[in-house]
Amino acid sequence: MHIGIDWGGTKMEVIGLDADGIELGRHRIATPRDYDASIRAVAELVEHIERTTGRRGTVGIGLPGSPNPLTGRIRNSNAVWLNGQPLGRDLEAALGRPVRLANDGNCLAVSEAIDGAGAGLDVVVGIILGTGHGGGIAIGGRSHAGLQGLAGEIGHYSLPWPREGEYPGPKCWCGRNGCLEMFCSGTGFELDWKTTTGEAKRASEIMALKRAGDAAAMAVYGRYVDRLARSLALIIDLVDPDVFVLGGGMSNVDELYDDVPRLLATRTNLWDGEGSRLVFSDSVATPIRKARHGDSSGVRGAAFLWRERE
Ligand SMILES: [Zn+2]
Repeated sequence: MHIGIDWGGTKMEVIGLDADGIELGRHRIATPRDYDASIRAVAELVEHIERTTGRRGTVGIGLPGSPNPLTGRIRNSNAVWLNGQPLGRDLEAALGRPVRLANDGNCLAVSEAIDGAGAGLDVVVGIILGTGHGGGIAIGGRSHAGLQGLAGEIGHYSLPWPREGEYPGPKCWCGRNGCLEMFCSGTGFELDWKTTTGEAKRASEIMALKRAGDAAAMAVYGRYVDRLARSLALIIDLVDPDVFVLGGGMSNVDELYDDVPRLLATRTNLWDGEGSRLVFSDSVATPIRKARHGDSSGVRGAAFLWRERE
């Protein structure tokens, strides 16, 4: 059995897959907010899935942030209590077996490249639009993490081609201002609403208002897609993937799949004006698709860390 764990901002989920990718069981718990409790939680999830399925498994984990391949310590995680910790080593001691860790964006990309919205395509970029904003790259169905393990880590670039009022931008948990995560995550979408209206609402409530024609919600949504298009334009210039696959809560906003490609194809970069588009090309055809496995893509990709496409 291949066991995958998706380490989310609010919940941790475990799945057990057989060699054919068939689901044998799953279970979820609330994400603990400190390190020692996190280790215990992973051990409990593995114990639970092995007890209920009666099988022993390999363990792969997708998490916000990533282990630095040079030191083994976690960095860049918005679950900040993980940063600096030798998570892989501690989990291997707790579980008594090797553990593979990867950024959640990479898990999304691998899952969707193997049998999801990117199946059969060579270069798949997974984009997380959830509690955070990040990305990961799969090439030939395998995670492309890079020398530092940073490949695809888009969330803490600064928002490109800022408009008036966007610079220096909100303070990010990472210490910088104006990171793409502060604009393109679901959290960033809700933050823009709160900043402009003074009230807190969930993203789904803001989208319901937008669909009902509420002017403030339409403006927040308009800024969101404009910023997301700028984020994806950077990746197209750098990687030029065969497809983007979106995951996380905002990936359920169906309007994105019409509006973002249209902006990528038509919008100028605001600085050089007419004739200078966001993407450095005279046409943009990159497909943008919703994760086929939806909320399960991260946990499947984590399990697939032990069974990547040949
Ligand atoms: Zn940041």
